[in-house]
Amino acid sequence: MSHDPDCIFCKIVAGKIPSRKVYEDDELLGFHDIAPWAPVHFLLIPKQHIASLYDTTPEQHAGLLGKMLSLAPKLALEQGVVNGFRTFVNTGEDGRQEVPHLHLHVIGGPRPWAKG
Ligand code: AMP
Repeated sequence: MSHDPDCIFCKIVAGKIPSRKVYEDDELLGFHDIAPWAPVHFLLIPKQHIASLYDTTPEQHAGLLGKMLSLAPKLALEQGVVNGFRTFVNTGEDGRQEVPHLHLHVIGGPRPWAKG
């Protein structure tokens, strides 16, 4: 499995940086965002290092990406979301991606939210 020793999310996967987990399996890790925009804000990431959506292809990653998105409602409900939520993936500089390891934001809970 590819791994970047300088990547903060790879360090979370390896347990070198602590996180508050919401989900884990062989391929994916979910954990609370350290600077939440809303009462519920967690990230779902592949355990392998994929820098961004630019580094995915339908042939290789459709299953992984489909799994990430389709897990979101189950995990959002588990985290107490009852009235809808947002999901998004920031990609590249203009997409305002800050951490170069693919991640799906899942954000919900009662409004108002700090952002978004
Ligand atoms: P993005 O702008 O889409 O790259 O978002 C990166 C997200 O990662 C931001 O919402 C950060 O608050 C979050 N983040 C950065 N470092 C950590 C960390 N150590 N644990 C949890 N979330 C983090």
